[in-house]
Amino acid sequence: MNPTFAHNTWPQVKAALKSAKPCVAILPCGATEAHGKHLPLSTDVIISDGMANYALPALEEAGVQACLLPSLAYAPAEYAAAFAGTISISTEAATGVIFDIAKALKEQGFACLAIANSHFDPANVAMLRGVVERIETELKLPVAFPDFTRRKLAETLTDEFKSGACHAGQFETSLVMASRPELVDEGERQRSEDNPSSLTDAFTKGAKTFKEAGGPNAYFGYPRQATPTEGVQTYEIMGEALVEGVKAALAR
Ligand SMILES: [Zn+2]
Repeated sequence: MNPTFAHNTWPQVKAALKSAKPCVAILPCGATEAHGKHLPLSTDVIISDGMANYALPALEEAGVQACLLPSLAYAPAEYAAAFAGTISISTEAATGVIFDIAKALKEQGFACLAIANSHFDPANVAMLRGVVERIETELKLPVAFPDFTRRKLAETLTDEFKSGACHAGQFETSLVMASRPELVDEGERQRSEDNPSSLTDAFTKGAKTFKEAGGPNAYFGYPRQATPTEGVQTYEIMGEALVEGVKAALAR
């Protein structure tokens, strides 16, 4: 089976599902959302795709047939909704799409759904936690969902990520520089002054928009500190978490 799911023909998918190796479908979950003046709206899609791609070789080594579903580019993203280009959808809409994808996979005989998510808007994370639980209990389809907002996994990521001053900052900019450097506006990146306001602290204090949280240009953190080397290191960590999640889900 071609690891790019949608590039297969139906007989190729049918043959893969009939083979002895378990088939795992990875759904990269992103958003269409403002990411500073230097990163594209597709930043989270790029990062989730990258994480999934980094997981593929290890999954193959583990005897799993893994493929990347077409990415989900829409999600709840109300914090960024005031910025041009952001397209925020409701929790209900996002839940419905993901649940129905899982239902189709289950009916066809996939062994596991893996969710590669890099869109950490609290409403999106809550939506994903909810739909994962529903898929596992109602559909009995094991789901791998490495949730990087949980302490155990957050601790494996960079200092900027842990500080919460992290949206289109050093962490995300490094990842986009590693996989799609042509989409980074270098001039704007260099002009993006450090913004140490912590988005996660602002969430706890009740801020409802990036502006209220201290991000008038839709970024938090240190875009000028980003490097492609850091991006590759982070992809390796995120990819590994996805692989471990799949192994744990298949063992359930
Ligand atoms: Zn992002």
